[in-house]
This record gives sequence, structure tokens and C-alpha cells, in this order.
Amino acid sequence: MSDLLSRLLEQRPWLLADGGMGSGLFERGLESGYAPELWNVEHPERVTAVHRSFVEAGADIILTNSFGGTRHRLKLHQAEGRVHELNSRAAKVARNATAGIGREIVIAGSMGPTGEILEPLGPLSADEAAAAFAEQAKALVDGGVDVLWIETLSSVEELEAAVRGAQSAGVPIVTTFSFDTNGRTMMGITPAQLAVLQRQNHVLACGSNCGTGAAELVASIVNLAAASAPDALLVAKANCGIPRYVDGAIKFDGTPALMADYARLALDAGARIIGGCCGTSAQHLRAMHAALLAHERGARPSAEQIEARLGPVSAGARALLADASGGARAGEAAGAGRSARAGSPRLRRAKS
Ligand SMILES: [Zn+2]
Repeated sequence: MSDLLSRLLEQRPWLLADGGMGSGLFERGLESGYAPELWNVEHPERVTAVHRSFVEAGADIILTNSFGGTRHRLKLHQAEGRVHELNSRAAKVARNATAGIGREIVIAGSMGPTGEILEPLGPLSADEAAAAFAEQAKALVDGGVDVLWIETLSSVEELEAAVRGAQSAGVPIVTTFSFDTNGRTMMGITPAQLAVLQRQNHVLACGSNCGTGAAELVASIVNLAAASAPDALLVAKANCGIPRYVDGAIKFDGTPALMADYARLALDAGARIIGGCCGTSAQHLRAMHAALLAHERGARPSAEQIEARLGPVSAGARALLADASGGARAGEAAGAGRSARAGSPRLRRAKS
């Protein structure tokens, strides 16, 4: 029998993922600098309340409160010896939050970056990183997650280490990069390169999360879709507008109406799993759910259409959009397409 996420995707044109766990916890009293994962044990009812608000707003997929749950991140809070406890609790808290809801909800085990730079640029070896991700993955699966959800990554090395670690746990894997630097990740990776990584690493779905606003995120999905197989499963999880520093705290300026329009455009762009990231509340998610229910998937939006509805797209993402539309036409004409891109010189450089 196929896994729950695959089964739901066979039945439905799209699935709604959840909103921002971190921002939900900040609203409930989490202090900046404190490890959110500790709340799985210290304040499980507050974590449950955030999950529950997303499920009640229509989410089909919820991410566990375990983004910083590798030993490297937990070490900053002297909790590196509690990886199994905190991650398995995160899974159980999420599962319990769906009790009695009357429909199937995918529990996705969130795995974020280690916070360390990998070799050759940094000190952490790929094997050490993979071992840390494997430790977290096992705990999440022991706690009952349906899939592992590797998110907000920026380097090929860390993505491959995370996937290798997660594969040992034996459940499907979803990976998303944060394309937050002029159309690329902080480490210079493009959406087209992620499309290649998805195929090479056999992950169930891949996509884009967090970053610098809904317009930029939709642009990254258009670029990703242009480089992916037509049936590739793509994920969009945008921050709720642009982050702004107001009165000592980060606020996001996206309205429910903007996030509803983002959800429609993300579907048009080719994403089948659509949610929000930082700043996305249950109220935003409810607007996105209503928008998707009423929307028929349209044509892939142009840069101009994205800008008119969601705001500015960076020059870098625009250049990739121009490349993608030109490249897709050239590929179709030559009968080339996917395999040709797998050997792109840019990817080989990035991986060497
Ligand atoms: Zn985010």
C-alpha cells in the first residue's frame, strides 16, 4: 500500500500544508532565542494549539515542532542529548492534535539545517551531518510521522546529507530549499538545480519555503516547474509577505487576501502542496483554503503577472524566469529536456 501523502495526492488536485509554527509559538509566549523544541515537553498544549488551529483552518499536512531538532542545533541549548525525546514528542504532539478531526492528516517530521557549514567550506563532514539527520529522522519516525520534511536548506551538500540520513528511517521524504538570495539560495543554488536533485535523490516532493515574500516564492516555483518533469510533486510554502522589524520584533505584512492570491498563483505555477511559512496564521491559512477550493488551475504565471498580484520579483529570479521559458522552448524543440539538464555544468560546479 502506498504511503498516506502519496495516496492523498492521487485523490486530490492539491493539498494544503500548514502555516508558521515558530510565529504561532511566539504569539503564545515563546521568547526569541529559546529552543521551540523544548516546548514539546514543557508546554505541549501550546504546540497543540498551533497545530490544531492549522488543522481547523483546513490543513491536510502539518509539520512537527522539530525544525531545530538536530543535535547540532540543540547543542546551542545544552539539549544535544535529548534528540530522541524532543523529536519523538514533537511527532506525538502533532498526531494528538489531529484527534477527532474526521479526516486524514499527514504528519510531516520537520528537519531544518544543522546550522553548521558543511565541508569543504565549513567544519562539518557530510558523514557527521548525515548521522545527525539520521538520529533526528529515527526519533521522528519512532514518534509516528508519515513523512520526513527537510526544509529551509540552502546547500547541495547539506541537502544530500539530510536525505541520506532521512532515508535510513524508511518513510517518504520531502525537501524544500529557501531561495532567498536574488532568486537562488544563500549558497547560490537555483530552482532548476533542485529539480535535478529531486530526481537524483528520489525524494517524493521538493519545493521552496520561507525566503523573501510570496512573489519571490511563486517565481521560484515557476522556475522549478520549468526544470521538472510534468508529474513532479512540487511544494510551495511562502512566508506571509515581507518580514519587517517593528518594535523589536519581526512582523510579516501579508494579509489573508494576499496569501489567498499567492495560493492560487502557486497552484498555477505548478505546486500541488501549498502552505505558508513564517508569519502565516490560521486566519491566513483559512483564506488560502477557501481560495484553492474555488480555483481552477490556470496557466503558469509570467513575472509580470506575479508582480501585479503579489509584489516585486528580484532581478535574479526574473533572469531565471527568462532562461526557463527560453530553455523550455529550446528543450521541447530539440526533444531534449530533463536528462540534458541533469548534467548541467552549474550543478557539477556546485557539487564539486
Ligand atoms: Zn519561514
